[in-house]
Amino acid sequence: MNHGLDLSAVLQASPPSDPTRRIYVNRNLDMAEIEAVGFDMDYTLVQYKQRALDELTIEKTIEKLVTSFAYPEEIKSVKIDYDFIIRGLIVDKKTGHICKVDQNRVVGRCYHGYQMVSEEERLSLYGSKPISLTSDRFIRVDTLFSLPESTLMAGIIEHYKQKGEALPVNTGELCMNIRSAIDEAHCDNTLKAAIIADPSKYVHNDDDLGPTLHKLKLAGKKLFLLTNSEHYYTEAVMSHLLDGVLPYFESWRDYFDIILVNGRKPSFFNDPNPFIRLDQHGNPLDEVVSELAPRQIYSGGNIHDLERMMNLTGAQILYVGDHIFSDIVISKRSAWWRTALVIQEMRDSVTQTVNHAADFNRIYQLDQAARQIDDMINYQRTLTRSLERVQKLIVALTSPETHVIDSTRERAEKEIEERKKQLNAMLKEAEELEAKVDRSFNRYWGRPFRERHELSHFGAQVKSYADIYTSQVSNFLFYSPDQHFRAERSFLPHEREHL
Ligand code: IMP
Ligand code: MG
Repeated sequence: MNHGLDLSAVLQASPPSDPTRRIYVNRNLDMAEIEAVGFDMDYTLVQYKQRALDELTIEKTIEKLVTSFAYPEEIKSVKIDYDFIIRGLIVDKKTGHICKVDQNRVVGRCYHGYQMVSEEERLSLYGSKPISLTSDRFIRVDTLFSLPESTLMAGIIEHYKQKGEALPVNTGELCMNIRSAIDEAHCDNTLKAAIIADPSKYVHNDDDLGPTLHKLKLAGKKLFLLTNSEHYYTEAVMSHLLDGVLPYFESWRDYFDIILVNGRKPSFFNDPNPFIRLDQHGNPLDEVVSELAPRQIYSGGNIHDLERMMNLTGAQILYVGDHIFSDIVISKRSAWWRTALVIQEMRDSVTQTVNHAADFNRIYQLDQAARQIDDMINYQRTLTRSLERVQKLIVALTSPETHVIDSTRERAEKEIEERKKQLNAMLKEAEELEAKVDRSFNRYWGRPFRERHELSHFGAQVKSYADIYTSQVSNFLFYSPDQHFRAERSFLPHEREHL
């Protein structure tokens, strides 16, 4: 049948560049309709060297636990497995367990220290019903800033478990003390002073970042920066990244039409916090802010006034951030901003996915085949049951008739047995292959976006709230500033089956 246009040449053309630098699309996004692009700073424009930042954070947190919270000196010798934690997990303050939750908010695997919690204990604690993630009992690992917190907690629990001794405090207190110590290290300049003193040690350089912002600006987009970081820190890291990178853009400020620091997200999206203009040293100026001037830096603010002063609303604004809740979920829910999520870990995740493409195909085929075998088994079961009923209902069967029915039933039962063996072998192969693939992503937690057959809670949030997602901001450089990002059509099973 002739459907019209010949699509073969177009469909064969390869999508742009390296897959780890592609932009992936959940919902259609036409950049031509976007008037303003806002950027978060930390872990969005600025990408951190995770291992170096984790080590720094953990070192400073341990110091604070010993000096301010009277923890024993021995916690300085706790062995840390820096690969233990991934984004998207939750910490149960009550038990000290760290858990991965699936898209239905059901707890999948969990660990206590570095040891996996048995299925029996997991089920008795959390059951197989959804848990409430808004409960005080759980802390979410929503950003890469949160990794060291849970990493340290698991390390301390493991340390005392190996020694056969009780923790110095209960798990709830341990969680809260680590939380407070890390919070303090972020707010009292401890971490930021170390980063500013040696930015190259902690911050990835990105030669494509300046050209990317420039390209968007040239296309007429308004660019704004909206960060929770303070003025002094923003100034220091943004200068390190962007000052003098391009001619005519001497200062990082030249790239942005509006600069907002101390943004207090998520409160920025919910509360009427005022905008305060800062002088060049970051001191607040005593004046009413009625417009946002370029090259000025403002503190605080709120979404309502920002939209009003930009004369733009919801769907004309794209916000690019890394925090699944404070940047993405909340800006989408409260203002219907278009959203781009930056997931630094995508570089590894996509590489592993590409490397294991053959394994994923095999798992998919095994799943398909298992479903077919299920159908065959079901058919034979129906047949044997019908024959049983015939034998019971018709009392006056002749001996040859009984023989035919018996032998048909026997054949069907034998086939069921054989098919079951085949099915078990397939399920075993799929399970082993999936476990192998999972280990190569993370040996404790597997793939960040999946939990066994389901999406992980993190994967489901990405799907629901991020219109597009990618590994770093400068991936926009490979696309037109007026790119129409098109999502794949989504299907229900009854539609996909007949494709
Ligand atoms: P943004 O991602 O650019 O909005 O900035 C994130 C800011 O939050 C950075 O200044 C971090 O230092 C800060 N931050 C991250 N985790 C914590 C915390 O646990 N307590 C206080 N500040 C934090
Ligand atoms: Mg951020």
